[in-house]
Amino acid sequence: MIRTGKEYIESLRDGRELYLGDEEVRDVTSHPRLKPTIESIARCYDLTYSRRGELTYVEDGEEFSTLWMVPRSKGDFVRIRQHITAWHEETAGCLGRLHDYLCVWVTALYILRDVIAKGGERFATNIVNYYNYCRRKDLALTHAISTPQIDRSPGARRKDNEDIHVVDVNDKGVVVEGAKIVSTYVPYANELISLPQLPANPDEDPNYIIGFAIPLNAKNLKIVCRVSYVDPENPHDYPLTTLYDDMDAMVIFDRVLIPWERVFVYGEKGPLINYEIFNDVLGFALWEAAIKNVVKSKYLIGLAMMLTSMFGTDSYPNVQEKIGWMMEYMSVLQAAIEGAEDTAKRHNDALIPNIWVTWPLVQLFSNDFYPKMVETLRTLAGSGIVMHPPMRAFRNQKLRPYLERYFRAKGANAVDRLQILKFIADYTVNSYGGRMLQYEKYYAADPFRVAIVHFRYFPEKEKFVELARSQIEKFRSIYGIFPT
Ligand SMILES: Cc1cc2nc3c(=O)[nH]c(=O)nc-3n(C[C@H](O)[C@H](O)[C@H](O)COP(=O)(O)OP(=O)(O)OC[C@H]3O[C@@H](n4cnc5c(N)ncnc54)[C@H](O)[C@@H]3O)c2cc1C
Repeated sequence: MIRTGKEYIESLRDGRELYLGDEEVRDVTSHPRLKPTIESIARCYDLTYSRRGELTYVEDGEEFSTLWMVPRSKGDFVRIRQHITAWHEETAGCLGRLHDYLCVWVTALYILRDVIAKGGERFATNIVNYYNYCRRKDLALTHAISTPQIDRSPGARRKDNEDIHVVDVNDKGVVVEGAKIVSTYVPYANELISLPQLPANPDEDPNYIIGFAIPLNAKNLKIVCRVSYVDPENPHDYPLTTLYDDMDAMVIFDRVLIPWERVFVYGEKGPLINYEIFNDVLGFALWEAAIKNVVKSKYLIGLAMMLTSMFGTDSYPNVQEKIGWMMEYMSVLQAAIEGAEDTAKRHNDALIPNIWVTWPLVQLFSNDFYPKMVETLRTLAGSGIVMHPPMRAFRNQKLRPYLERYFRAKGANAVDRLQILKFIADYTVNSYGGRMLQYEKYYAADPFRVAIVHFRYFPEKEKFVELARSQIEKFRSIYGIFPT
C-alpha cells in the first residue's frame, strides 16, 4: 500500500497518551504546536504517492515504497537514495528523524533475521512479519534506545538509570516497566521500536535486554514531550521551527504489555544478538543520515549564497573562501555515501552500507562540518539574524514605509531580506537551531565514545602500523640505523 498524506494524518488519531507541558493532548493532528509538522510529513507521503513507479516498487504483485526496499544491487541503493533525498529536500533537511530512518532500520533487522534467529526461531519469524506489516501499511515509525540520564558514574547499571526491563512474562507476552530518555518524532509516528543501548555489561540482568515494537497508543505508555519551540501565533518569524519541529519525547512504560509477536530480542542470548545486529542496523541507518546531511548542507550553502548576494558581500575573497569550504564539505559527504554503497557488506542476498564509512561520515558532519557551516552562516550574516522585527510589524501602515526603507538590502526588498534572515536565524541562533546542533551531535550516540570504538575496532588497523614500520625499515636499509 502507498499511503496518502490524508491517510497518514487520520492514522495518528489513535488515542495515545501524550503530554505537552501540563496538557494531555488528545488529538495530535489538531494541536497548533504539532499540526504543521504533521502536515509537512503528510506532504512527504503525498510526494511518494504522486511519483509512484519512480519511488515505489512491485514485489509479488504488491506495491511498496522504495524506502522499504531490500537493496540487492548498486541500482537498488540509488533508488532508495533518490527517495530519501526527495523527502529531505521536501523538509529542508530539518527533520532528522523523518521516518525513512526507521524504514531502513526495520529493513536492516529483516535482512538480519538469521542473526535474530540465534535467540529463537520465533523472534526471526516476528521480525519478518513485522517488516511485512510495516511496509504493507507504509507506517511511520520511530525508535527509543537511550536510557534516562540519571546516573552515568562508572559502574552504573541500566537498573540505576531506570531503563526499560521485563517485570512479568505470561502467555500473551512480556510486561515492561521503565523509560527511554529521548525518542524523537514520537508525536508523528504510529509505532515505536526499541532496542537496548550498547554496550551490555557481561553481568547485566537479561531482563534489561529486550528489543520490541509497539503502537504508540499502547495501554500504559506515556509520552512526555520536551518544550515546544513552535510559536503558533507567529509562524512567519520562525519558518523552519513551525514547519519542521522534530519533537523529542521521553517514553515511560508503566507496565506495558508487549505481545510475543512483537518481541525480537530477549533471553539468554539477547546481549550477544543485540551486539551483533547493532553495527549493521547502524550501517544502514547512518547511510540514510548521511544522505540527509548532504541535502541539509545544500540548503545551508544556498542560504549563504542568497545572503551574501543580497548584501553584496559575495565578491570578497574571505566570504568566497568560507562558502567554498561549505561546498567542499558537501562534496566529501556526497562522495563517501557512494563509497559506503560500493564497499557494502553482503549479508545473504542483501547489501548493507559499510558502517566503517557511514559512521565516520556522520561523526565528521555532526562534530566538524555542521557546526562549522552554522558558524559560517552566523559570521556571514552579522547582526542581520538577530536584528529583525516581527513580520507583524508590516501590518502597521504608519511603520511600514520605514521598515521597507531601512530593512531592505542591496539585492532584496525588505520582506525578502527579512524572510531569508529568519530562515538563517532558525538554522543558527534560535532555540530550534540550538536543538538541531545538539541533535546532530548526539543522535547517533555520544561522539566521544564512538571515536573510541573506532580506535579499538577499526578494521585492518594493524596494517597501518605495518605500513608505517615498512618505511622506517626501508630508511634503515638505505641509510643504516646510525650515521656512519
Ligand atoms: C536532540 C536529540 C534527539 C535524540 N533522539 C533520539 C532518539 O530518537 N532515539 C534515541 O534512542 N536516542 C535519541 N537521542 C539520544 C542519544 O542517543 C543520546 O543523547 C546519546 O546516546 C548520548 O547519551 P546521553 O544523552 O544520555 O549522554 P550521556 O551518556 O549522559 O553522556 C554525556 C557526556 O557525559 C560523559 N559520559 C557519560 N557516560 C560516560 C562514560 N560511560 N564514559 C565516558 N564518558 C561518559 C561524556 O562526556 C558524554 O559526552 C537523542 C539525543 C538528542 C540530543
